[in-house]
Amino acid sequence: MKQVVLRAHPQGVPRASDFAVEIAERPGAGEGQVLLRTLWLSLDPMIRLALDEKVLTGPTRVRPGDVVFGATVSQVVESKHPDFKVGDFVDGRTGWREFAAIDPKTVPLRKVDPDAGPLSTAVGALGMPGQTAHACMIGVGRVKAGETVVISAAAGAVGSLAGQIGKILGARVVGIAGSDAKCAVLEQLGFDAAVNYKSADYAQRLAAACPQGVDCYIENVGGAVTQAVLPLFRYRARMPVCGFISYYGIGFEGPGPDRLPGFMRTIMSKGLEVRGFGGAMVAGADGLKDLIAWYKAGRLQAPETIVEGLDAAPAAFAGTFSDNAHVGKVLVRVAEPA
Ligand code: NAP
Repeated sequence: MKQVVLRAHPQGVPRASDFAVEIAERPGAGEGQVLLRTLWLSLDPMIRLALDEKVLTGPTRVRPGDVVFGATVSQVVESKHPDFKVGDFVDGRTGWREFAAIDPKTVPLRKVDPDAGPLSTAVGALGMPGQTAHACMIGVGRVKAGETVVISAAAGAVGSLAGQIGKILGARVVGIAGSDAKCAVLEQLGFDAAVNYKSADYAQRLAAACPQGVDCYIENVGGAVTQAVLPLFRYRARMPVCGFISYYGIGFEGPGPDRLPGFMRTIMSKGLEVRGFGGAMVAGADGLKDLIAWYKAGRLQAPETIVEGLDAAPAAFAGTFSDNAHVGKVLVRVAEPA
């Protein structure tokens, strides 16, 4: 079988050459294990943090030679575990490989209901990214009808869903993305306005799109994208810190001047509430129920960018940090279900 291992810790933005595709022996299921065939592989930005030499420790950390960790939708092909039978679909962090022998006590597996939506959505709109979008807007952001919410990385998996949830809640939704083409997609998804942060007058355009100021800013990026939001905050605004992708390759120290004083002043003077969170934990099973109901009612679209085959995973993952042409959830189709 094929598997993708880390060749070297990425320096800054990841490159396809940081990974290697290897042939390995296909495992069998040991006692208490299930043998899974990977169908879909989810390319999530947080994988980048697990690839760092210094920043993350713990079970998700990947060292050179290790199979890259990542969430998948898989099908059980052999079972020596009483809770799983051959043919079941599961979602879990089973890694960048075609088959995985998994002990669910070590790697938690969630059973996937194939009637909820297409299997790929179990790691997208009807899985962790959807729950994260739900947490951004509801559990943490507490967005209300009539408020203005701004979302960075708005054309990504989380942002594209968060904006649609904002519209379901009755808010004015403004997305920030890195190209005019992505901004056009956001408007098709129902966003009230979309601003390209690469345009020369980005800060002015953002201010014009938020005439009442900003009640809630979903932070996914950091850096100059965020700097332009700070002066627009209304009193008692919320800033759910969902992610900060522009910093993922730089550890704890960034280049340039220290802008923390200005940020602290904003927090103090605007009564800004800044909160980090794990989206799946905050939204939980109830969030998932909302997402499935909205999806089935046609109120939530699940945009996806699909690449074919495990060999394509390294370049596609690197692309999410560099050329960034994708919209919605980026997925690798590894195999078809039996
Ligand atoms: P995604 O689908 O991979 O989209 C990421 C987007 O970020 C890219 O398409 C790109 O869009 C933008 N981007 C990448 N590098 C950038 C840079 N240097 N500066 C500005 N924009 C950049 O990601 P996602 O799954 O939606 O995740 C979005 C954020 O949420 C990430 O920070 C991720 O770590 C975080 N997250 C958090 C949780 C949680 O539980 N807290 C869960 C899932 C994800 P443009 O072309 O528009 O630049």
